[in-house]
Amino acid sequence: MKSHAQAVVIGGGVVGCSVLFHLTKLGWKDCVLLERSELTSGSTWHAAGGMHTVNGDPNVAQLQQYTIKLYEEIQEISGQEIGLHLTGGVMLAGTQDRFDWLQSLHAKGRYLGMETEVISAEEAAKIMPLMDPKHFVGAVYDPIEGHLDPSGTTWAYAKAAQKQGGEIYQQTRVEALHQNEDGTWHVHTDQGDIHAEHVVNAGGLWAREVGKMVGLELPVLAMEHMYLLTEDMEEVKRFNESSGKEVPHAMDFDGELYLRQEQKGMLMGTYEKACVPWQPDATPWDFSMELLPPDLDRITPSLEVGFQHFPAFETAGIKKIINGPFTFAPDGNPLVGPVRDLPGYWCACAVMAGFSQGGGVGLALANWMIEGDPGFDVWGMDVSRYGEWITKSYTNVKVRENYSRRFSIRFPNEELPAGRPLRTTPVYDLMLSKGAQMGEAFGLEQPLWFAPQGVEEVFSWKRSSDFQPVSEEVKTVRERVGLMETSGFAKYVVQGEDAELWLDQMLACKIPKEGRMRLAPMLNETGKLIGDFTLTRLEEEDFLMIGSGVAEEYHLRWFTEYLDPELDVHVVPQSSTMLGLAIAGPKSRELMENVSSYDCSNEHFRFMEMKLMPVGLCECLVGRVSYTGDLGFEIWMEAENQRTVFQTLMEAGESLGIGLFGLRALNSLRLEKNYGSWAREYRPIYGPLEAGLDRFVAYDKDADFIGKEAAIEEKDSGGKLRLKTFVVDAKDADVIGDEPIWHNGEVKGWVTSGGYAHASGVSVAMGYIPKEIAEQETGWEIEILGELRPCKVQNQPLFDPEAKIMRG
Ligand SMILES: Cc1cc2nc3c(=O)[nH]c(=O)nc-3n(C[C@H](O)[C@H](O)[C@H](O)COP(=O)(O)OP(=O)(O)OC[C@H]3O[C@@H](n4cnc5c(N)ncnc54)[C@H](O)[C@@H]3O)c2cc1C
Repeated sequence: MKSHAQAVVIGGGVVGCSVLFHLTKLGWKDCVLLERSELTSGSTWHAAGGMHTVNGDPNVAQLQQYTIKLYEEIQEISGQEIGLHLTGGVMLAGTQDRFDWLQSLHAKGRYLGMETEVISAEEAAKIMPLMDPKHFVGAVYDPIEGHLDPSGTTWAYAKAAQKQGGEIYQQTRVEALHQNEDGTWHVHTDQGDIHAEHVVNAGGLWAREVGKMVGLELPVLAMEHMYLLTEDMEEVKRFNESSGKEVPHAMDFDGELYLRQEQKGMLMGTYEKACVPWQPDATPWDFSMELLPPDLDRITPSLEVGFQHFPAFETAGIKKIINGPFTFAPDGNPLVGPVRDLPGYWCACAVMAGFSQGGGVGLALANWMIEGDPGFDVWGMDVSRYGEWITKSYTNVKVRENYSRRFSIRFPNEELPAGRPLRTTPVYDLMLSKGAQMGEAFGLEQPLWFAPQGVEEVFSWKRSSDFQPVSEEVKTVRERVGLMETSGFAKYVVQGEDAELWLDQMLACKIPKEGRMRLAPMLNETGKLIGDFTLTRLEEEDFLMIGSGVAEEYHLRWFTEYLDPELDVHVVPQSSTMLGLAIAGPKSRELMENVSSYDCSNEHFRFMEMKLMPVGLCECLVGRVSYTGDLGFEIWMEAENQRTVFQTLMEAGESLGIGLFGLRALNSLRLEKNYGSWAREYRPIYGPLEAGLDRFVAYDKDADFIGKEAAIEEKDSGGKLRLKTFVVDAKDADVIGDEPIWHNGEVKGWVTSGGYAHASGVSVAMGYIPKEIAEQETGWEIEILGELRPCKVQNQPLFDPEAKIMRG
């Protein structure tokens, strides 16, 4: 075995082989793959081999499309037969809600260039002869679906990678990983050691163990999964003979089943509700090419539905039941990318649909390792979407929830209950007592809206039971004073003699003077947005940065990567130690003066200023800023003071008509200001000019901030896209996100977010369109639940277009 390699990929399942293929294809020839047993000997060998492009996250859907389109290429390069059957497939809806969901996926797919088609149940039955259409409301047909031979495909990646220079060692188990002082790795195996610059955890069923080798508790768990194979079926043979085609794939969401032809019979698999984790504590190293005992009882409820929906199964003999384990992350998406404080350690794990996603995962990771950037929007599968708050038991309940809901609809206003509450703030129970309907983000409970007695959340694609209460919350803010919890934002203290110097390189904005705040975009090397912060200079060498809560680990990873040991600068996250409340509305100043005895007039407390001041009994950092667009104050305090500050504000606010508001009201309010938000409008695929944040970029500052050159290039060339706000002539449903934006009959852009702007009484959407047509006033439509709704561009914010109120 070699003693040195540029990269060592641990794991020879479909994912590891795809990573090796992509690394060698993109130019890293000195790469090695180590496999404990034989290639495919984890979950890969017994997979059903199905593949499809559909995914709730359009970016993951795009990577799935890439994966499927790659198969012919790897077959050709390797000369290895992969048993590709591109049969097409139908996704079947048994209820109107499901049909609405499928149509929304179809609509999203439009701007990604996906070729799906909405069809009736009868049309679906002509394509998929085994189904009984009376159980279904409608369907979506996808021509890019099918199945392949899992083992052949893995070997095709492997052989193609070998032809490109990669080396593969089987029967070689990685036993330990040690990072050297210079950041390189010693990979200890039972066949000797390899020294490498990079290691990739593609350990599949053992990804957790390969994580533990470097002290990581990766949120990954294996679940048992069953599918059955029938004896030959007359119906299948007849269809093959009469049509000359194979029986296409089918996904029956309400039956929680998938099926496809296997030889002259059928394969039917199910994601059963009574699901069972496999080896929840540690995966045995001697498990290899083994199956688990089938448990027919567990899948019987699903099969009964399946046999009704596909009656030919009733008389078919069952030849075999396969039960095998494969891994999931808590949200079912892969865990890909680098890990904070572990330079050169990369993850490519928890890939639950290796044959739909493996190619895309391999490409994104190889780009990331070689170019420093995945080259796509991989936010939905970035390993950094989980933080240090992850525990093994959280992963366990969440993965089980995800598995059992694999085919369930998740409504846009639906919060999933498992693993909650995990992280709470001291005002949690007070908020609940006021009717708070909680949502969870990055493990933390946060009020979404406040339900009056007797009102409950009704899950829906359309406006729902929260519509009126949220409207009241909005009214409270715009007319009196509202209070919301802001603890969900990420907070970082940046201190040290070189703090300013470092921040000047990290952020694209000018660095504020003492006591002042500034909006601070952060860019990557390619000039794309990787963060939008509010930066405050508390003292000469002491800064506070507030950013997106869900991106905390993502940002910490970036900060850590760029921390220069030569500089005196420290970045300290304040996740649970510093908490927040915000007040907003015309009476917020009066409230602030009442609780602090400070003069908060414009003269003494200017917009974008931050002060350390009392709020009742507690010292707080108070910033004059508001994301609602109103006069407002953000208040940051020690966690132990949050409850007291909350009660002080509520008591003092009573005579002013104070009311609580949640994240949904905030969304409604910020839409009226054309304010974007992280992970929706601001993502690493947009430049600051495209996103309308260029006014916060100090293109001419002396510091050579990261992404400066690319940002200047974007400014000069004008970029490609423009973020626009639209007022939509919606009926009873507002946009959710990812809907296509049409212009003069063609899909030209996509929605990033939206909702109902209660104070203005209109439906609003934000989204990206090509810059060439961005100034066109007419011809715009947005597709909501399959219906094209007219809309018009709203260049000026609906609320306070000159921002006089906020600054007043
Ligand atoms: C019953 C069943 C049906 C399925 N059907 C489908 C389907 O239709 N379509 C689909 O897309 N997916 C399907 N899957 C899921 C699919 O199998 C997985 O997504 C895929 O196999 C994941 O591949 P992987 O490479 O990540 O992991 P694995 O296949 O588990 O590969 C990991 C490899 O790493 C090796 N390894 C681990 N640790 C070490 C170490 N320390 N040193 C050296 N080597 C190591 C292991 O030996 C193993 O070979 C199915 C799974 C099951 C169980």
